[in-house]
Amino acid sequence: MTCIQLTARQLKIIEIVKSQGPITGEQIAGLLDLTRATLRPDLAILTMSGILDARPRVGYFYSGKSPQSFIAEGMRRVLVKDIKSVPVVISETASVYDSIVMMFTEDVGTLFVVGNGGVLVGVASRKDFLRSAVGKTDLHKMPVGMMMTRMPNIVTTTNEETVYEAARKIVDHEVDALPVVRVVMIDQEDQLEVIGRLTKTNITKLFVELSEGTY
Ligand code: ADP
Repeated sequence: MTCIQLTARQLKIIEIVKSQGPITGEQIAGLLDLTRATLRPDLAILTMSGILDARPRVGYFYSGKSPQSFIAEGMRRVLVKDIKSVPVVISETASVYDSIVMMFTEDVGTLFVVGNGGVLVGVASRKDFLRSAVGKTDLHKMPVGMMMTRMPNIVTTTNEETVYEAARKIVDHEVDALPVVRVVMIDQEDQLEVIGRLTKTNITKLFVELSEGTY
């Protein structure tokens, strides 16, 4: 695993804050024989990554967290509903051709295929479309419902699941996106309504924001 690489100076700052914190930026600079301005980027990185905490008028103190544990904690604290995107859905009767056009216009790699009442019936990914495009099928005539991966083989997530749990599913099932669903009763049967989309991109963005302290 790659972790945040701290410079020798940043490690020295951590040591100082660990042993003498809370301590002001001015005082740290004095101990290192540097100006406060020189230290500013280092202190920004250390606070953004969650290693140091800063309190106004108190100074810096050691949070006791490594950058890795800060990210691990975020993955378990943040919920799918906090970072999901809007779902991009298409009717199972739409042609493969129209589905490919939608994939381009909506700029997504996965389409969620729905039946009556917006109920999840399948998923169609880039590779599924490539597969149908290299065959002899008429893309205008073939419905997307014929070539998609179909329920009940769809891996889904919910609003309340943690990002960690959803990421685990993405890794275990080797897929790029999960439909976010909720159970609805239709004709006395439990069905899944699509209410969002969780992709590797959402998770990567969360990683970057947790690392930079901007989430
Ligand atoms: P790509 O086609 O770009 O490799 P994926 O890795 O997501 O995209 O898809 C691989 C296969 O898994 C495809 O056949 C797709 O239909 C299927 N698939 C994609 N997402 C899911 C999901 N959430 N649950 C079940 N199958 C999926």
